[in-house]
Amino acid sequence: MNIKCILCNAEDGVCLVLSDCQSFHCKECGEGFDLDDVETRIKELRKMVCVANAAKTAAEKE
Ligand SMILES: [Zn+2]
Repeated sequence: MNIKCILCNAEDGVCLVLSDCQSFHCKECGEGFDLDDVETRIKELRKMVCVANAAKTAAEKE
């Protein structure tokens, strides 16, 4: 399973921390993040997709 680091975007530096099974550690940037951080990031991305789709729809109407 390949998880992209949400902090530095490294594609194969991320490991699940097995002691709690809900946080991740990135070997590339040396930082860690947990499921809440991932959820926050997903919400941000979703918002971006909504904004982009709305802009695209608006542009197509013209
Ligand atoms: Zn990283």
